Amino acid sequence: MDRTILHVDMDAFFAAVEVLDNPELNGVPVVVGGTGKRGVVASCNYEARLFGVRSAVAMASARRLCPNAVFIDGRYSRYVEVSAKLYELLTTVSPVVERIGLDEAFLDIGGATRLFGAPIEIAARLRESVLEELGLNCSVGVGRSKMIAKLASKAAKPHLTQRGVEVGDGVLVVEDSSERSFLDPLPVSWLWGVGAVTRKRLSELGVKTVGDLAQIPEAILIKEFGSSHGTHLALLSKGIDESPVVASRPPKSIGREVTFAQDSCDIEYLKQRLNVLSAGVSSQLREAGLSASRVSVKVRLADLTFQTRSFTLSTSLDTGPAISAVAQALLDSLPIDRGIRLLGVSTANFSDVERAEQLSLLSMLHDDGVRKVDSSEGEDLQEQAAVLEDGWREIVKAVDAIRAKFGYSAVGNTSTLTGLGLPSTARRDAPWGPSGQDPGD
Ligand SMILES: [Mg+2]
Repeated sequence: MDRTILHVDMDAFFAAVEVLDNPELNGVPVVVGGTGKRGVVASCNYEARLFGVRSAVAMASARRLCPNAVFIDGRYSRYVEVSAKLYELLTTVSPVVERIGLDEAFLDIGGATRLFGAPIEIAARLRESVLEELGLNCSVGVGRSKMIAKLASKAAKPHLTQRGVEVGDGVLVVEDSSERSFLDPLPVSWLWGVGAVTRKRLSELGVKTVGDLAQIPEAILIKEFGSSHGTHLALLSKGIDESPVVASRPPKSIGREVTFAQDSCDIEYLKQRLNVLSAGVSSQLREAGLSASRVSVKVRLADLTFQTRSFTLSTSLDTGPAISAVAQALLDSLPIDRGIRLLGVSTANFSDVERAEQLSLLSMLHDDGVRKVDSSEGEDLQEQAAVLEDGWREIVKAVDAIRAKFGYSAVGNTSTLTGLGLPSTARRDAPWGPSGQDPGD
């Protein structure tokens, strides 16, 4: 093999996490998604698939197909938490891990074979440790390209038969020599870029399997599908895919901003908004397992220009009140008396561990460069933030735990209260449509 690529894909991820957290659901059809009228299925276990339920179908159809299933609102932050553990585990196998969504990743294990043994051993051991450490099943495929690896993990998955759900191989390594015999019988729809339209056209050409496709001369595919898509199909049918595994990098900054319906110079209101924004930023940081030592506040003034202030601490923060304390101090130094139309908080300089030993660098940046702040002012702010961070850490942990269970809006620091009740700033908390508890549903 010239390259050795491994694809790991969690089996029915969100649904499996729900079963893991609620063992009484074992063996029961479970459907996760937006449980409201217009919701969509995000994930379902194999027991539900037996009834024809699939992800991305309307929740209403899922209820018709499988009325006895247990329908659960997705708990995004919980899935992110499990996904972070998965990622951590994967990085012990290879430094080159490309995450695809929460439940899939490609690993280039070319450099790992000398340390950890043959690809089949690496793949089998990885699957075992995922089960041991996360309590969840995954499927692992290995091949010389991302495409082969992904097809292999798919082929290794549990499948549905007349008799019910059958466990799959779990691990499948496609050697160069067996690539052709692996690809030939696969339905052509398994290839990347073969959607309903291409599949229909191919079936008119008598092409049902990847093997059929490989028999068609490239010139004919180009004539039928145009040069780029035609060439693509010809290459894939031969198992050729040169795309590299690109290691996923954590974001450089995490922030939130809000644009007001009317310009505001009401400092109390703006500080309350900073609390809300900082709470959102902090939960996103913690989801990612990060803390930040740099906090910035951005405003857009009535004349449409932007102004930014930043503060770098010697310690790093991941709690809303601490971030907000810094942000509020920064806001005080901005020219907001004629009103602002946009307010934003962002954090940067991430570390995944407390950097207690880091050299204290207290600086306040203006748009035009660095201005040393009066050191006593800096020290005070530093101390205030550190005290808040310590004081809030335990509370915030509890809040996170409650939110993981009941959703983002279930609990909030009263400083984030608005006239509309608790804010739901977790923009990705219900990406599958409104929940069944939504008013008016
Ligand atoms: Mg999956």
